[in-house]
Amino acid sequence: MKKVISWLIRFVPRKYLQRVGGFGLKVVGLFYRGSAVTCPVCNTSYRTFLPYGRIKPRPNALCPQCLSLERHRLIWLYLQDKTTFFTAPLRVLHIAPEACFIPRFEKLHGDRYITGDIESPLAKVKMDIHAIPFPENTFDAVLCNHVLEHVQDDIQAMREICRVLKPGGFSIMQVPLFAPMGDVTIEDTTITDPRERERLFGQDDHVRKYGRDYSRRIERAGLRAVEDNFVNTLSREKQKAYGLVPGEIIYTGFKP
Ligand SMILES: [Zn+2]
Repeated sequence: MKKVISWLIRFVPRKYLQRVGGFGLKVVGLFYRGSAVTCPVCNTSYRTFLPYGRIKPRPNALCPQCLSLERHRLIWLYLQDKTTFFTAPLRVLHIAPEACFIPRFEKLHGDRYITGDIESPLAKVKMDIHAIPFPENTFDAVLCNHVLEHVQDDIQAMREICRVLKPGGFSIMQVPLFAPMGDVTIEDTTITDPRERERLFGQDDHVRKYGRDYSRRIERAGLRAVEDNFVNTLSREKQKAYGLVPGEIIYTGFKP
C-alpha cells in the first residue's frame, strides 16, 4: 500500500493528482495525524507531511488533506503576513490556479476572484496569458505561479500581467529555480523534444530555465521586482512546523 502511494505521488502528474488523488490521500492522511507539522492552508496537523518529488522525493512536502506543497504553504503565509490579501476585498486574477487555494480564495473574495488558464479544467476563464482578456487596471492582485517557465514569451506574459494590474497592485510569480542556478536565464522555444527539454530546462514541458536575472526579466515587463526572503524571517521551528524550504525566495512584481 505504502509503495503504491509513493509511486502514485511520484509518477502521476500533479494536475491529475489534484483531480483524482485527493480522496485517497485524505485516507492516507488519517494514518499520519499528529502534531509535529501543521498546514496553514487547510489547518490540519500531522506527524509529518508526505514525501513528494519525481526523481528524488523531498521529505515532509505534501499535505495529504489539501495537497499543498512547501511553496503553496509559503505563499499562503506570505499573503497573510505581508499583504492585505486576507483582510481587504480584492479583485484577484489567479492564473493556473492551484487546487488547494481555489475554494479558500473564492470564499475570501467571492465574485471578485477569477481563475484563468489555457487548459486547466479547474479555471473558470479559458485564456492565453499572452493576451489576457481583461481591460487594463482591473486587478489588485495577480497570482501566477509555475507558469512562466512553460510559456512561449514570458516577458509578453508579464507585460500582460502588468497591464491588467491596477497601479500599486501586486503579482506573485514563482518559478522553479534549479541548482546550480545560472547567471542568465536560458530558453529555446524551438526545442520540442521532451527529453531534451528535461535535460536543458529541468522538465519535459519547460521552455526555459530561469537564472539569477529573473527579477530583471520581471522589470523588463514594466513591473517593479521585489525578491523577498520572507521564509528566513521565520524561526527554524516555524519553518519546520509549516514544512517550508529555507531560502525559498518569493518573487513579486508591483505595478508602479
Ligand atoms: Zn493542507
